[in-house]
Parts: sequence; C-alpha cells; structure tokens
Amino acid sequence: MKRKGILIVVSGFSGAGKGTLVKKLIEEYEGYALSISATTRQPRPGEEDGREYFFLQKEQFERKIAENGLIEYACYCENYYGTPREYVEQQLADGKDVILEIEIQGALKIKKQYEDALLLFVMPPSAEELRRRLEGRGTETKEVIDKRMRRAAEEAEGIEAYDYIVINDDLDICVRQLHEIITAAHNTPERNKEFIENIRTELEGEK
Ligand code: ADP
Ligand code: 5GP
Repeated sequence: MKRKGILIVVSGFSGAGKGTLVKKLIEEYEGYALSISATTRQPRPGEEDGREYFFLQKEQFERKIAENGLIEYACYCENYYGTPREYVEQQLADGKDVILEIEIQGALKIKKQYEDALLLFVMPPSAEELRRRLEGRGTETKEVIDKRMRRAAEEAEGIEAYDYIVINDDLDICVRQLHEIITAAHNTPERNKEFIENIRTELEGEK
C-alpha cells in the first residue's frame, strides 16, 4: 500500500528556529518536501529568489491570488506571504510529507481545507532566548525585532489550535522529536482508513 503524504504546518514565533529546524529535518531524513512560499517582502542578505522564497511584486502576488494559485495566503508585518498550490498538490500525490513553514493565520486556513493536516508550533525555551536569537541572527533592525516580539505575544494566544508544540532548546533533540511526532502521526486511524477497511473486509470471512 502506498504511504500517503501528510501536509505538515510548522509555525512559531519569528526567531524560534523554524527555518533552522526544518532545514536539518530535511537533510537528515527522507520523504520530506519543503514548500517554497511567495512573498512581497524584500530578500534578506544571502536569500535567493526561488530558494528561500519566490520574491514577488505586490501586483504579481495579487495576480496569483486571483488565479487561485495559492492554497493560502496572509499578511504578516505589512507583507504578503502565500503557499503556491501546484507544488504542494504534486508532492502530496507523490507520497511526500510536505512542510509549510507558515504563520498562524495561514495555518488555520490550511486546517479548514485539509482536515488531515498536522499542525506543529515551534517554541523557544523562553522569551528572553527568543529575543537573543532574533538579535543574534542579525538580519533585522531593532525596530523590526521589537515588532516581531509584539507579534509573538499576539501569536502566543493561538497556540491551542495546533496539534503539538515542539520546544527548540537543543537543536538536535528538537529535530529528532519533530520527526518522531510526524512518524507517529502516520499511524493514527484517521490517516489509515483504507488500510483498516481492507483488513475489516478480509476479516469478514472469519465470522
Ligand atoms: P525562524 O525561522 O523561526 O525565524 P531561524 O531558524 O532563522 O528562526 O533561527 C533564528 C536564530 O536562532 C538563527 O540565528 C539560528 O541560528 C538560531 N537558532 C535556531 N535554533 C537554535 C537553537 N536550538 N539553539 C540556539 N540557536 C538557535
Ligand atoms: P520571514 O519574513 O521571517 O521569512 O517570515 C515571516 C513569517 O511569515 C513567518 O512566521 C513565516 O512562517 C511566515 N510565512 C512564510 N511563508 C508563508 C506563507 O506562505 N504563508 C503564510 N501564511 N505565512 C508564511
């Protein structure tokens, strides 16, 4: 029986370590595909179009929305971010676990459309450590960091919508934990309806 891919949403406060974690997960384990989002924000130094994001002008992004080319999109700190539809649908059909690294508004939209989606929320060990990581990354100004910390306080209100939290303290432990949660999720009855039905049918003959 072909394994069905799970649509996995990884959210978490900016600076919690989502990008770092997901990169390592994909390097260390097979069967994952990472969706590359479209955004209207400016590339950070070192970011490349088509690798971290597809960097679009506002008009190009709005055309994608109109064409139904995104499975979800949201506005985050005054920029658009969205998930291109085609890649996700292809990879899921191919049996891959597709990872969307997206914020909470997008996560909730995904849960409505894909009831099987697995929603994971990455947390730092403390708020102090979160600020330290944002500062240490060195990619944002003090003003943007303050804005992201305020945004984190708002996002913290929505964590109960997620299936699991993962605390990113030690990176290696956290990557392993992430993979274990996903592995376990493959074995829920809801995600194995066909297999269960087949066994039931076979067992009919034993009655
Ligand atoms: P996000 O994608 O959630 O915004 P990043 O992956 O960019 O966060 O990580 C933010 C910063 O924290 C980066 O400088 C990264 O190297 C660092 N970082 C990530 N995970 C850990 C960890 N477990 N321990 C210490 N630093 C970490
Ligand atoms: P950053 O600018 O730090 O790369 O991302 C800002 C926020 O946007 C992060 O929380 C990130 O997870 C989220 N994000 C990235 N891509 C998408 C997307 O396609 N859709 C949604 N809804 N959020 C996204």
